[in-house]
Amino acid sequence: EMPPHDFQPSTHDGLDFSTVLNIRKKNLNPALFTFYRKPVYIHQGHMQYLWDTNGRRYIDLFAGIVTVSVGHCHPTVGRAAQEQMKKLWHTTNIYLHPKIHEYAEKLVSKLPGNLKVVYVTNSGSEANDLAILMARLYTGVFECVSLRNCYHGASPYLMGLTALSTWRYNSPTGFGFHHTMNPDPYRGPWGGKHCRDSPAQPGRQCDCVEGECHAKDMYVDQLEDVLRYSMPKGKVAAFIAEAIQGVGGAVQLPDGYLKKAYEKIRAHGGLCIADEVQTGFGRLGSHYWGFESQGVVPDIVTMAKGMGNGYPMGAVVTTPEIAATMGQALHFNTFGGNPVACAVGSAVLDVIDEEKTQALCADVGTYFIQALDSLRSEFEIIGDIRGKGLMIGVELVKDKVSRDPLPGDEVASIWEDTKEMGVLIGKGGLFGNCLRIKPPMCLTKADVDYSLAVLRRALQNHSQRQ
Ligand code: PMP
Repeated sequence: EMPPHDFQPSTHDGLDFSTVLNIRKKNLNPALFTFYRKPVYIHQGHMQYLWDTNGRRYIDLFAGIVTVSVGHCHPTVGRAAQEQMKKLWHTTNIYLHPKIHEYAEKLVSKLPGNLKVVYVTNSGSEANDLAILMARLYTGVFECVSLRNCYHGASPYLMGLTALSTWRYNSPTGFGFHHTMNPDPYRGPWGGKHCRDSPAQPGRQCDCVEGECHAKDMYVDQLEDVLRYSMPKGKVAAFIAEAIQGVGGAVQLPDGYLKKAYEKIRAHGGLCIADEVQTGFGRLGSHYWGFESQGVVPDIVTMAKGMGNGYPMGAVVTTPEIAATMGQALHFNTFGGNPVACAVGSAVLDVIDEEKTQALCADVGTYFIQALDSLRSEFEIIGDIRGKGLMIGVELVKDKVSRDPLPGDEVASIWEDTKEMGVLIGKGGLFGNCLRIKPPMCLTKADVDYSLAVLRRALQNHSQRQ
């Protein structure tokens, strides 16, 4: 949907942002945390588009940070917020109100099995903090396991769960968290190119067939190893994973990995937590939830980002039995589940159904991935294209054989170039060399064509600079 004809983004020249404490101002590793050299001041948004303060339009291929699920300022979601604001903005979750009831009912209708109890938070970090607490209370065990390339949140507590060194600063990171080898089809020691057919990977090609990747068994053996060596009395409280690792650079777990991992964890008495902060709400196209793409049903699901289309909210959903153990703990947050958030979340669920968003993700995502695959054959520095639906990663390397990451300054130049041509892309991965494409789920094929042309030009400019 294009903006209405009379849509005239206003402009603001000469703004002074020097008083804003922003992540840009931190002195971070430039290879990983390069920001646009010429910063963009975002001023206005409409669906998949953004305008800067000078009125320049961008296609937003990163949707905030995978937050704007159904489109910037989506009119239906905006109306729901406005209507609710006329009635009631806030009650803490001491009280119940009709919107939280309506929202919880709608949300659990989207989830399988006995995942029937919802606790609404303000963010993904809060949701994961609570999920870990629930698992510990339920099992009476402290130790938890996550994957080495994971990101699950930014609280000091979760920095221990998050394994990526990029996000772990000088804070204590013990807290009973253990990390198992990342089942990374591109960089892992056993290869195991995900089962989506893809160009041959010299030297590390996996001979897996669709749905049966042998490499997953080796990664599950590694998990077994962690459980055997590191769990006191062989007991574990929880295992947490995303089906496709978001911050880690859209690393797609090999088919069947989570099924076997869940079996191992349950055999050691633990609960399985699916982090759906990025993968949920139809983004993968093939399924509403990431865990469904792996054929598993978790014990606890956490979510945030897209559930509020950018409005700050998160949630934990679990079974009545696990939720009951929370009776042991006074767990509380002031803003979580406020009426406006619930009205927004509820409208987002409706829009996803009404606009057939999941099917759009499948269709436009497949189109995008195919186009990127062909771009990969044109450019030596595109090492890997991966993902599902509108959760796509492009890993940039020095060359396809060595797979050495493209140096940060070169990645940054390509990235800057795409921005200058009107396309905003995310960046991430272990080496900061992955372009992350996770746009609002209303992206069209015309937007894909435009973005592809821009990316091709930026890659050509890069070749010419070398
Ligand atoms: N889990 C995942 C998978 C995430 O990507 C993030 C945020 N990038 C979080 C949890 C934490 O969410 P928040 O930033 O809302 O606390």
